Amino acid sequence: MAKGQLEFQEEVDAARIENAMWRSWKADGSGDHSGDHSAKTEKLERVRGSIGDSIDFSQIRYPQETRRCRYDDLPTFPVRPNFAGFENALQPASQCVVFDGCPEDPYHPSNTPIYQTSTFVQPSSSEFGPYDYTRSGNPTRTALEKHVAMLEHAAAAFAFSSGMAALHTVTRLLKQGDEILVNEDIYGGMHRLLTQDCAHNGVQVTFVDTTNLTAVAKAITPKTKIIHTESPSNPRMKISDLRKLATLAHQHKVLLSVDSTMMPPVICQPLLLGVDLVVHSATKFFSGHADCTGGLVCVRDPELAHRVAFLQNAEGTALAPFECFLFLRGIKTMWLRVNRAQENTVQIAKALAKHPRIKEVFYPGPGGCSSEALRIHNSQSSGCGCIISFTTGSVSFSRRFLDASRLFKTTVSFGSVNSLGEMPCTMSHASIPAEERTLPADLVRLSVGIEDVRDLLQDLQRALDFASSQKPPPEHDGYDSRFEDLPVVPRPPDEEVSRHMSRHMWPVDFLAFRAGNSPLLRVYR
Ligand code: PLP
Repeated sequence: MAKGQLEFQEEVDAARIENAMWRSWKADGSGDHSGDHSAKTEKLERVRGSIGDSIDFSQIRYPQETRRCRYDDLPTFPVRPNFAGFENALQPASQCVVFDGCPEDPYHPSNTPIYQTSTFVQPSSSEFGPYDYTRSGNPTRTALEKHVAMLEHAAAAFAFSSGMAALHTVTRLLKQGDEILVNEDIYGGMHRLLTQDCAHNGVQVTFVDTTNLTAVAKAITPKTKIIHTESPSNPRMKISDLRKLATLAHQHKVLLSVDSTMMPPVICQPLLLGVDLVVHSATKFFSGHADCTGGLVCVRDPELAHRVAFLQNAEGTALAPFECFLFLRGIKTMWLRVNRAQENTVQIAKALAKHPRIKEVFYPGPGGCSSEALRIHNSQSSGCGCIISFTTGSVSFSRRFLDASRLFKTTVSFGSVNSLGEMPCTMSHASIPAEERTLPADLVRLSVGIEDVRDLLQDLQRALDFASSQKPPPEHDGYDSRFEDLPVVPRPPDEEVSRHMSRHMWPVDFLAFRAGNSPLLRVYR
């Protein structure tokens, strides 16, 4: 770059940095826009204090080695919202529906618009507006990221095109020669990413049982930079003590990353437990309707947030505006959906545990794990979630059960309003080579939806009865998403029907017929 160009670039960068700092300070609501660093630090410390943080972040900041703030290291514009600016005392149910979608939109819409544009016009070639290019930043995405940051108590949140893109970004914090310790019982896609991608790029991947703190402590080496786990794990529902893992990780200057897809923020907020990075496949509970894919990375440390923002922009993995809109919409009902589905889950787990053909039920509720695991789970989240896994002792029995179920659709994924079922070994976790898989082959995973629990219980009973019988499989084309396949209302014998009709139906039909033919209704039909 020629000298003049370089100076111009530096000037522009300086202006952007100043602009960004001012905006972030303004968003802080402190009223002081002087950019006074000590006041900012004090505010940040207060926020850290308020989320129970006693860790010296300057010690564990990784992998950013310098404090110097360069344009390339900065988050996209405007600066990523910091939780410091919108800390509030609302309960999760209220936080799901509050609105802060687009404060600068001239039409003041009451729902976040989809800013479906790739570029934004700038005031001049040397002045810049808040957004310039959607890969770097988009108002619909900012609204989503801000909402997620609030729900997760994060310094910043980042929306990605899928849960895997979010997980990939976490692994990109590592460089060649670094080591990541990963829970043995990890989601199949993450297993594939680590063993067939990261390992090939010189990152050492070590699997460890994160429910066993002694084993984790033993496995940590000077090369270890990240510990990554899930609690409950998917699909064995093993519980790791996140507080103790965070303390252990921080003692060794290691970051703790948690894939909390199973535990949406309305029931668990791992950053408050000391976790550094929370990842979600937003495809599950944030969407809630199985209509879009997306991923989230939520970060507690603003310095680490800079690095994630840089990767999101540099690698072009950010979520598109329309999907951001769908997730914003999903968040509004997340508390309601999750709570209703959890109530169903408890009843279904109880019914399964009592059934003679079910061997073991795995879920973070009574009878679904050890009392110690349940104690830990209850100390770090306010609910059991909506996923249950169980074994039957026979792969063919498990298959017959799933094939016979009408309401638990055979589908990978979870967290939708409707109930789903799958066999992890051949479906969600099939990417783990058989010889490395620790899952029982007969394991069934259910994702419980928000249907009337009586229908779900009846459907399970019917499917279990069918699986226990010698009957041949039902004849249908396998894609069981047809109304015709739903359980039918039992038909009373003919004379019962006519007696019932004569007593109740006839006058209603007659009145409907008369009303339907009245001249007034005909006008409005
Ligand atoms: N994490 C967990 C626990 C998952 O179950 C999944 C997908 O099923 C992912 C991450 C990947 O998310 P996505 O499918 O949105 O890429």
